[in-house]
Amino acid sequence: MRILIVEDEVHLAEALAQILKKHHYSVDAVHDGQSGLDNALSGIYDLLLLDIMLPEMDGMTLLRTLRGKGIFTPVILLTAKGEISDKISGLDYGADDYVAKPFSTEELLARIRAALRRKGEVVPEDALKFGDMELNTGNLKLSCKGKELKLILKESELLELLISRKSAVTSKEQIIEKLWGFDSEVEHNNVEVYISFIRKKISFLNSSVRINTIRGVGYVLEETP
Ligand code: CA
Repeated sequence: MRILIVEDEVHLAEALAQILKKHHYSVDAVHDGQSGLDNALSGIYDLLLLDIMLPEMDGMTLLRTLRGKGIFTPVILLTAKGEISDKISGLDYGADDYVAKPFSTEELLARIRAALRRKGEVVPEDALKFGDMELNTGNLKLSCKGKELKLILKESELLELLISRKSAVTSKEQIIEKLWGFDSEVEHNNVEVYISFIRKKISFLNSSVRINTIRGVGYVLEETP
């Protein structure tokens, strides 16, 4: 189980990290909202401990952005005394729980266990199908014939785009615009790298789906007989 701590009080973040490591969680800690979002978007975490007042990006904005991108990692808010309205809006924005600072270690550990237990029950209904392959953009799982593996966020976004285009060819420019935005510095070979990652994963699943390269044009999904 991997937990991300987003907390700008460095001493508190370090103390939390130590406690969690002692309880056999893997832990990363960052101290501002933007780094928190960048890390959380990787989709590798099982849980986020999120402070609300943070430099660069506040916890609420981080949470809203994360949910907007289809990342449903459980989030426990760490709220300071008197932030009652923040608690309520936090739950509106898709937080799973909150603990008020100062909190006891036992209380926090219990909340973490409860959030992780609930996580197992939440299956977002956003599975996309192509041929014998199924992509769940909620939990980033790609499955085929009972086998499944996890994609990273960009792989899932790219595959989602290809699936949504059906038999239409998708150009590298379209992929870059959709995944990184118009004014990004991303180059064509970044797209090629992600395509090759996805191809490896599809082939690992023994799926009959292939990503065909149409030279000079782009990519298209096809089912092979
Ligand atoms: Ca803070």
